[in-house]
Amino acid sequence: MPDPSTPSVGSTVTADRAEEERRGLMLVLSSPSGAGKSTIARMLLEKEKGLELSISVTTRPRRSSEIDGVHYHFVSKERFIEMRDGGELLEWAEVHGNYYATPRGPVEAAIEGGRDILFDIDIQGTFQLYETMRSDVVSIFVLPPSLAEMKNRLRGRGEDADDVILRRMETAVGEMKHWVKYDYVVVNEKLERAYDSVRSILKAERHKQARSSVIAPFIDGFVSDLEEALKA
Ligand code: ADP
Ligand code: 5GP
Repeated sequence: MPDPSTPSVGSTVTADRAEEERRGLMLVLSSPSGAGKSTIARMLLEKEKGLELSISVTTRPRRSSEIDGVHYHFVSKERFIEMRDGGELLEWAEVHGNYYATPRGPVEAAIEGGRDILFDIDIQGTFQLYETMRSDVVSIFVLPPSLAEMKNRLRGRGEDADDVILRRMETAVGEMKHWVKYDYVVVNEKLERAYDSVRSILKAERHKQARSSVIAPFIDGFVSDLEEALKA
C-alpha cells in the first residue's frame, strides 16, 4: 500500500510561479508635494522587477527635460477629447489648466499579463480608478515627517520659486485630508526606511490570494492527490 505521506506524482507549484502567475496590480503613490513620492517611485522602478510606469497623456506643453513617450505622451486638446469620448482613458483630470489622463490599453494589457504598474497621478485620478478597478488598486499615501521638513525639501529640490512652493503647500492641505481613503500610509522620514516599507507593501500585495491564477488549480489538484492517496 502506498504511503499517503509521500504521494508519487501530483500537483506542484513553485514559489516563483505562485508569486508571478497572477493578475498584475496597480500601485498608486500619492503625497503632498515635497514628501518624496517621486524619489520613492524612481527607486522602485530602478530596483523592482516586473514593475513598469503608466505613461499618461497630457495636453501640457513638453518641458525641455522631457521625452515624448517616456515621461508623457504629449497630445493636442482635440486628440485628448477624442480619446476621452472614445472610451480610451481609464481616468482623467484637469490640473492647473491642462488635461492629464491614463490610457486604458497599456494598463489592461499589463495587469492581464501579470505585470504590475505604477501610477504617478493626482488624487482625483486615484479616486476614479477606485470606481472602476478598486480590487486591482493598491494605494499608498506618503507623508513628510513635519511641515518644516516638507518646506526644506521643496526648497532643497531647487525647482520652484517661493510663491510656487506656497501654492503647493496650500494644495497639500486639501490633499492631506484624503489620507483615510488610501490603503496604506508611509511616513518618509529616512528615505531607505520609507522605501523599504513601500517595497514590503508591494511584496505582500503580490501574494494576495484573489490575484493568483495558479493557487486555485494547485489546491484542487493537491486535494484530489490527497484523496487518491488516502483511498489507496
Ligand atoms: P514629491 O515627488 O513628493 O514632490 P520629491 O521626491 O521630488 O517629492 O522629493 C522632494 C525633495 O526631497 C527632493 O529633493 C528629494 O531628493 C528629497 N527627499 C526625498 N525623500 C527624502 C528624505 N527621506 N530625506 C531627505 N530628503 C528627501
Ligand atoms: P506635472 O505637470 O508636474 O507633470 O504634473 C502635474 C500633476 O498631474 C501631478 O500631480 C501629477 O501627479 C498629475 N498627473 C500626471 N499624470 C496624470 C494622470 O494621468 N492622471 C491624473 N489624474 N493626474 C495626473
